[in-house]
Amino acid sequence: MHTSVKSTFYAITVSIFLMLISTLALAVMPDNQTIKSSDPAEKTDNTKETVKYKADELLVKFKTTTAINKSNAVAHLSGVGVSSTTIDILSAKQFKPIKNNNNKAGVQGNSQASLDNWWHIKLAEGTDLKRALNILSARPDIEFVEYNYEIRALLTPNDPHFDSLWGLHNTQQTGGSFDADIDAPEAWDNRTGASNIIIAVIDTGVDYGHEDLAGNMWTNPGEIAGNLIDDDGNGYVDDVYGYDFINTDADPFDDHGHGTHVSGTIAGIGNNGIGVAGVSWDARIMAIKFLGANGGGNISDAVNGVIYAVNNGAKILNNSWGGGGFSQAMLDAINAANDAGVLFVAAAGNSNRNNDASPYYPSSYAAPNVISVAATDHNDQRA
Ligand code: CA
Ligand code: CA
Repeated sequence: MHTSVKSTFYAITVSIFLMLISTLALAVMPDNQTIKSSDPAEKTDNTKETVKYKADELLVKFKTTTAINKSNAVAHLSGVGVSSTTIDILSAKQFKPIKNNNNKAGVQGNSQASLDNWWHIKLAEGTDLKRALNILSARPDIEFVEYNYEIRALLTPNDPHFDSLWGLHNTQQTGGSFDADIDAPEAWDNRTGASNIIIAVIDTGVDYGHEDLAGNMWTNPGEIAGNLIDDDGNGYVDDVYGYDFINTDADPFDDHGHGTHVSGTIAGIGNNGIGVAGVSWDARIMAIKFLGANGGGNISDAVNGVIYAVNNGAKILNNSWGGGGFSQAMLDAINAANDAGVLFVAAAGNSNRNNDASPYYPSSYAAPNVISVAATDHNDQRA
């Protein structure tokens, strides 16, 4: 590995580490890795919170992309002509495939992940979701059916020691241990940034006009703002800074605060005499909003966010969120990102739990590009 690449990678890794330290953590967990479907309601564990999911929605994966007639997707998914039992489906939206054209490293993937085999379906209000899941699971043309899990982000304790300064360079300024830090100044001696690296912050959005962030924001080079035209033909109109998947619009402005905080730690503009310095002083932040003003969201929007980020050039995906059960759709998206040469960095959670024994998603997905990052305090103890 070339020295500059190595130091760039180090700086970015370090920035992500620090960002995760100073950030929120998360909620819920269970794993449900059944063959064709998952039903967290059947699995109870009084040490865990209840897994929640959208009441009238499912994620469905066909065995092949050709198994469905796209022009008549709702009827097909409802079972018309393919099943003796029909269900009442209102809408069906196909996920986009992940393109492999930004894989400059030439990584050859071998996963069978095909995001465009997945459909996000909305059922009639009041539908018996468990019954619908069972009917769809029994069909020979369908490979997986799962709930659309809710993800909840929780703030870390309001601890004054959760301060980026000691994490960058610990001189016991908060009473902790000397050098219990990420050695940021040492890394900066090698390199202070990587303006060619796009880091997608998949979160609550980003305050892209913030004085410490504006100059480090990724902007879509093929998109003209505000002309109501999808100039670059990527499927999203006027997506200049990224996209807002929870509100389905092109403005990923942060209405919560978390994503902006995370972004500042990753790539707040350094050495400009204001605010904070990020660990990488000049990386490019792509704003992917999928968590709402209350810090909550759903797996379907997270999957769409991963697809968008990879297809639009991000090399690192930052995921400081968690919760829900095991999602095959999310794992397929992560594997497809891996095939495109993209890292997926995820928070391990702040509960000081063994994630190998008790999986915490998305950090526990077994994919080669997942980096699970745990938080430590100013004494180098687990948070
Ligand atoms: Ca566009
Ligand atoms: Ca436009």
